[in-house]
Amino acid sequence: MHGISVAPAVELLGIHKFYGDFHALRGVDLSIARGEVCVAIGPSGSGKSTLLRCINQLEMISAGQVRLSGVLQGYRELDGRLHELSQRQISEQRRRTGMVFQRFNLFPHMTALQNVIEGPVQVRRQPGRQARERGMALLERVGLAGLGDRYPNQLSGGQQQRVAIARALAMDPEVMLFDEPTSALDPELVGEVLDVIKDLARAGMTMMLVTHEIGFAREVADHLIFMDNGVVVESGKPQDILTNAREARTQAFLSKVL
Ligand code: ADP
Ligand code: MG
Repeated sequence: MHGISVAPAVELLGIHKFYGDFHALRGVDLSIARGEVCVAIGPSGSGKSTLLRCINQLEMISAGQVRLSGVLQGYRELDGRLHELSQRQISEQRRRTGMVFQRFNLFPHMTALQNVIEGPVQVRRQPGRQARERGMALLERVGLAGLGDRYPNQLSGGQQQRVAIARALAMDPEVMLFDEPTSALDPELVGEVLDVIKDLARAGMTMMLVTHEIGFAREVADHLIFMDNGVVVESGKPQDILTNAREARTQAFLSKVL
């Protein structure tokens, strides 16, 4: 797998997800190239979070394949058959993606810096000093230089979300997944978080982002998908979809949010 690799950073093939009898994802295909930003929009309940959770194996898919840089996730192919990986192997694979949620989920009893270095120290056994230096550089990267000693309750929502982004970056993910990262924020704090995400995009990070910030989607997305009812209804360049949606369902959704 070394040398020239043409495999997409993220490849979803025929993904289905059932929660019990409920068919939440009904055959999703998607490809995200390295360095590309894919934004998913769509009504509540359409399966956007489920899709992100399937990409990083917080949910097991019911059918289909997830590949990251060509590598099958959750299974191993042997003699043409699929074998489930162990929990430990799945946890290892999960580190290839960094997830940022709507709620920041920081550890309340740890400082910002401790939150950022927890994974590198506990999981990757990085020496403390090295982890702290890297952690401070990451906090600086998200605009929080000097705030490493603050506890989450001493930070604004926008600052907490930026710590959460630094924490995800600390594990050196190949792909960053954002699930409505600004939905829980006061309006005046949205911009500072979107700016950090924009910087990551500019730096070439491969990302998939669920958001209701349509203006931001237009600006940052290489590729926009509109989901409804567990399927990707429409997929393409943001300017095409946002100004010239082909599907009635997309048009109806956009007429409500634009
Ligand atoms: P979105 O993020 O687009 O709002 P979700 O992926 O959260 O949508 O949910 C898609 C559908 O799956 C919804 O109808 C939701 O109620 C259902 N769903 C999500 N998670 C679960 C779960 N753990 N158990 C049962 N149903 C779920
Ligand atoms: Mg959701």
